[in-house]
Amino acid sequence: MYKISLITGDGIGPELSESVISVLNTIHDRLDLKFDITKLSAGDKALSETGNALPDETVAAIKQSDACMKAPVGESAADVIVVLRRMLDLYANIRPAKSYPHMPALRDDIDMVIVRENTEDLYTGKEFSLGNASVALRIISEAASKRIAKYAFETATQRDSMKKVTCVHKSNVMRVTDGMFAKSCTDVSKDYPDITFEQMYVDACAMNLIRQPEQFDVVVTTNLFGDILSDESSQVVGGLGMAPAANIGDNFALFEPVHGAAFDIAGQNIANPSSFLLSIKMMLDWLGNKHNDSKCVKVGERLESTIFDLVKSGVKTKDIGGTSSTTEFTKQITDNL
Ligand code: ATP
Repeated sequence: MYKISLITGDGIGPELSESVISVLNTIHDRLDLKFDITKLSAGDKALSETGNALPDETVAAIKQSDACMKAPVGESAADVIVVLRRMLDLYANIRPAKSYPHMPALRDDIDMVIVRENTEDLYTGKEFSLGNASVALRIISEAASKRIAKYAFETATQRDSMKKVTCVHKSNVMRVTDGMFAKSCTDVSKDYPDITFEQMYVDACAMNLIRQPEQFDVVVTTNLFGDILSDESSQVVGGLGMAPAANIGDNFALFEPVHGAAFDIAGQNIANPSSFLLSIKMMLDWLGNKHNDSKCVKVGERLESTIFDLVKSGVKTKDIGGTSSTTEFTKQITDNL
């Protein structure tokens, strides 16, 4: 039995959480992989109700679980996810961009992953005013850079793909901070002679994601660049509705969709649950590897292929050119599982 904590979030978060619960319950009932799900509150609603976007009870329950699933939260996102990433030392943010059939996508042959450093850069919240100027501290350490570089090379080693790591930075302008990131990645690359290593400036990477996205395998980059590039890479393969993410540390992991709370479509039963459901697949992979539980990994593969087959058959939500509602799409997934 795996204990799963679930932050239900804001905007489309609660609808997507119902979809996740329905799929996990189906796996629990029919595929004999047992889950104990605890729903938790964090985000804008928690802030207005309790004065705290990340209540202590939520943090305590997350720490007692085997893994956390987090739906998107609204304006208070920085007080929830950025805090959790640092508090739980979830240093690797893994954002795959993979082609699915019949997507409104630029290409249909993409299989890449962005490995984003998740604990430092401009996300440490060290901003202040200095007279009429505003200052933000951009912290890049050698230890964190080497740790994320190692994660990227290990990912490239395990993937059944072209065995390439592209280190993305802007060291021609940020010579000290990105200079350290680039050097750290270069140093780590020497331990992986079988993996092709290249470096690319972030502006060139943004262009190449449109021009030649098929050339990428594993991209390793700093926190802010990773945030921006992963929205772009998700659009290359069909949009935010198909983009999952994992925040991974040495002992714990948290899974979420790449997208935000999408208030513009909240409560309409039209949100695409696939990104959050594909995050379940990433969670099952991680749990399976951590606990040496091959059943977990197999069920995760089955969930992914069920989503793949469903969109291939033309059953899709509005954002990717279909007509199914969130609940209809979810029911098809649970029926087909
Ligand atoms: P954040 O800054 O928190 O990541 P954002 O401002 O980038 O959020 P999102 O909430 O991610 O915005 O939404 C961007 C656009 O994508 C919106 O128009 C939204 O409707 C659409 N969108 C996001 N997620 C989904 C989804 N699961 N299904 C359908 N459309 C979505």
